[in-house]
Amino acid sequence: MSKGDEDRVVLVSGGSRGLGLSICESLLGRGYRVASFSRSKTDETDLLKKTHGDKYAFFEADMSDKDALQSLALDVEKDFGTVYGLINNAGITNEALLARQDEAAIQAIINVNVMGCIWLSRAVLRGMLRRSEGRIVNISSIVGIRGYKGVAVYSASKGAVDAMTRSLAREVGPRNVTVNSLAPGYMETELVGHLNERQLNSIAKKTPLQRLGRTEDVAGVAAFFLSPDAAFVTGQHLVVDGGLTC
Ligand code: NAP
Repeated sequence: MSKGDEDRVVLVSGGSRGLGLSICESLLGRGYRVASFSRSKTDETDLLKKTHGDKYAFFEADMSDKDALQSLALDVEKDFGTVYGLINNAGITNEALLARQDEAAIQAIINVNVMGCIWLSRAVLRGMLRRSEGRIVNISSIVGIRGYKGVAVYSASKGAVDAMTRSLAREVGPRNVTVNSLAPGYMETELVGHLNERQLNSIAKKTPLQRLGRTEDVAGVAAFFLSPDAAFVTGQHLVVDGGLTC
């Protein structure tokens, strides 16, 4: 970490549990100041607050509410500091065959996974462009590059985020803002709660590294994209799946 990095603020969406929580913990451990949000706080976010004091802030906001995201970005800048890094992590899925999938569920996936990512990036980008520095990391998924039954809409949302990553990287690169996407494979979080033990074991068996991902495996890679070592990396899509899709 270079001098001054410890004062940098990173905003993490969906930081109340799962991967987002691990990313917050990993960044706090590396000395960043972390602002995070989701729809509701958890015991884990309370504990982070207790442990890290004014280096950590948790907000309640809905990723599918454009105005709430705009206010959140302003509140974070005002109360916590200018945002150096944004991790677009909050995401939802709903496993169903498309022909039978509920219309509201389809819309919710697009609202959170795609529109939320667009609105939040837009809200923090203005400050990054003004200051000529910033890092955006979009959490996508291996379903953006490989087909899996029952997740067509979720896959569409992750493919959209990957496509946005590349074009936005070209757009904001001249102002020293990097944009990358990180595609985890299967991790045992609430998001994959619909998969049973047998299905999870079968995925682990098909994975060259013979296990499911841990959120810590992915959090460290997200931290890499924020680090000085990744200063010349932009527009990239990095898969962290133990080799499942290789
Ligand atoms: P998770 O355990 O279900 O956690 C999701 C997080 O997003 C929670 O903090 C949740 O908090 C928040 N969230 C959900 N809807 C929200 C909304 N409308 N507004 C604000 N926050 C919201 O999921 P995860 O596995 O950690 O997934 C994190 C990211 O990794 C997602 O983008 C997911 O697509 C991606 N991913 C996961 C896997 C996997 O195997 N788990 C694989 C590939 C990619 P609240 O419910 O309190 O709002």
